Amino acid sequence: MTIYNFSAGPATMPAKVIQQIKADLPSYNNSGMSVMEISHRSALFDKIIDDAAIDLRELLQLPDNYQILFFQGGCTLQFSAAPLNLANKYHRIALLDSGHWAKRAQAEAQLVDVKVDVLASTAEKNYTELPVLKDLPQNKYDYLHITTNNTIEGTAYSKLPETKGTELVGDMSSNFLGQVYDMKKFGLVMAGAQKNLGIAGLTLVIVRNDLIGQVKNLPSMVDYDLFAKKNSMFNTPPVFAIYTAGLVLKWLKEQGGVAEMQRRNLQKSGLLYDFLDNSELFIAPVAKQDRSLTNVPFVTGLPEVDAKLIAQAADNGLVNIKGHRLVGGMRASLYNAMPYEGVEKLVDFLNKFEKDYRGTH
Ligand SMILES: *Cc1c(COP(=O)(O)O)cnc(C)c1O
Repeated sequence: MTIYNFSAGPATMPAKVIQQIKADLPSYNNSGMSVMEISHRSALFDKIIDDAAIDLRELLQLPDNYQILFFQGGCTLQFSAAPLNLANKYHRIALLDSGHWAKRAQAEAQLVDVKVDVLASTAEKNYTELPVLKDLPQNKYDYLHITTNNTIEGTAYSKLPETKGTELVGDMSSNFLGQVYDMKKFGLVMAGAQKNLGIAGLTLVIVRNDLIGQVKNLPSMVDYDLFAKKNSMFNTPPVFAIYTAGLVLKWLKEQGGVAEMQRRNLQKSGLLYDFLDNSELFIAPVAKQDRSLTNVPFVTGLPEVDAKLIAQAADNGLVNIKGHRLVGGMRASLYNAMPYEGVEKLVDFLNKFEKDYRGTH
C-alpha cells in the first residue's frame, strides 16, 4: 500500500530524493566515503554547499545583495537571532500576531530585551483569519515580523503587508519555495528545512547585506555577519541536512521551480478545500481569502468522530492527519513533495467516510 504522509514537519520528501540519498549513501561521488563521513572542509562539501546556494538563489530570483546563510538551532533560534542582529536602532520591533509561531517569535525577542509591539492580532477569532495591519508608525521599529504561512492555524499571506519604510522580516518555514513571494520586499527571511526543504537540523536565513554587521560581539552562533564571512562554516555545519536540501533544490528545478510548485499547491489545496466546503460533516474553519496552500486544518466538531477518522485514514495509508494539539481536529499538510494523487486519495477517503457516517446517523 502506498503511504501518503500528511505530517506538518518533519514532512514528506520527494521519493526521487530519497532514492538518490539511498544510492549516494555508501560512497558519495565515488569517494569511498558516505556523505555523513566527509569533512566540511573538503572540496566535496564545498561543492555541495555552493551548489545549494546557487540553486536557491536561482529558484528565488534572489538579488546579489542578499546573503544565504545556513544555520542550526531551528527556526526557533532565529526568533532571537533576528532581533539580536537587526533590532539595533530602536530596540523595538512590530509584530502581526497570526498564531502560535508569531507568539513564539514575540516571546524569544523579548528574552533578548527587545520590545515587541503587537500591532494586530486575530487571537479572538482563534486565528482563523490573518491580522490586518492598519497603521505602521515609521521610524519607530527596526522591523515588522510576520509569519507568511501559519503551519498550525492554516492561514497564509498571498499579499504582503505594506510596510513603507520599515523592514519586513518573514518566518517562511512552512511555505518556503511553495508559494511565490517577491524576496526584495523582505529584509530577512527565515525558514526551517524540515517542512519544504528536506530534513530537520538546518535553517535558512536570507538577509540583505546592509542589515548585517551592525552589532558587534554577538555570540558567534547567531552572528549573521560572521556566518556570511565564513560561508556558514564558522563551526561544523549540518552536512547531511545541507546535502539533502541541495537534492531537494535540484528536484525543484527539474519540476519547474517555485511558480510551478505554487500552481500545483493551489490545485492540491483547491481540491481539498472544495470538498470540505461542500461537505456536511467537515468544516474548514479558515476564512477563504486567507487560506494556506500548504496546511489545511479541518474539523467535524465531534472529537470521537475525528479520532475514528484519523485511525481509519491511517489504516488506508493516509498518515499523520491528526490536527495540532492546540487546534484539534485534522490537518493535512500538502507541501511540495505531496503528489496530487495523495490529495485525491484523501478526498476519496473523506467522501466515503462521510457517506458511511451519514448512513448510520
Ligand atoms: C515549524 C515552524 C517553526 C519552528 O521551527 P523549529 O525548526 O522547530 O524551530 C517556526 N515557524 C514556523 C512557521 C514553523 O512552521
